[in-house]
Amino acid sequence: MRQNIVAGNWKMNNTLDEGLKLTSEVVNMVQDELTNNNVQVILGCPFVHLTSVQKLTNGTKLALSAQNCHEEAKGAYTGEISATMLKSVPVQYVIIGHSERRQYFGESHDTLTKKTDTLLAHNLTPIFCCGESLDIREKGEHVAYVCNQLKDSLFHLSAEDFARLVIAYEPIWAIGTGVTASNEQAQEMHLAIRSFIADKYGKEVAEGTPILYGGSVKPDNAKALFACPDVDGGLVGGASLKSRDFVDIAKSF
Ligand code: PEP
Repeated sequence: MRQNIVAGNWKMNNTLDEGLKLTSEVVNMVQDELTNNNVQVILGCPFVHLTSVQKLTNGTKLALSAQNCHEEAKGAYTGEISATMLKSVPVQYVIIGHSERRQYFGESHDTLTKKTDTLLAHNLTPIFCCGESLDIREKGEHVAYVCNQLKDSLFHLSAEDFARLVIAYEPIWAIGTGVTASNEQAQEMHLAIRSFIADKYGKEVAEGTPILYGGSVKPDNAKALFACPDVDGGLVGGASLKSRDFVDIAKSF
């Protein structure tokens, strides 16, 4: 049985006070409303929030994610944050390869390979984002493009290590746009990703890998998306900034 996951990605939003208020609300709602639900809820906070948010989530069902991590273990990289630092908070997950980081910060396949290795070496779970632009989809090349993203950054891993990843399929044209992939589009890609993983690592690894959908997930579309057989949850940006919406999404399984 694969783990269902709903992970919030706050991006560069919320002051510390706002982040703590949001966290308290989510913690309370999850505690009251998500008692029998097989879903791991994750908060993806800015670095400066993590330690304080951890104090509120500690001992609850919520897990914590960073939104990035430097690929080197330590050293003279002014302004950067290492896996060791994240582990010491402690954080359990790290989002890597988000399209915004690929686009604005030049995160390459090679960098993502190194980040994946570093995170796994520190027992942190990468949430590896992939996804195509509208242009690529319109050319009908979306499946090949996304599979190549996985191959180029992840297929050096052993089956044992690959089985420790979470994949997030996030079509760029759906991120923050209000345009959600249809259930059919999401299922088509998730199945293609799972089959591609199965070809390389075998059915057992593929069947065990959580594949999240990201791109304008909202309370009113989450249920249908999560009902797709190969969609194991969501990576949620905008809607994760509102406690009611985020928890309603988590309750959509
Ligand atoms: C994201 O930031 O990963 C994302 C999917 O954003 P949104 O839900 O706002 O589209």
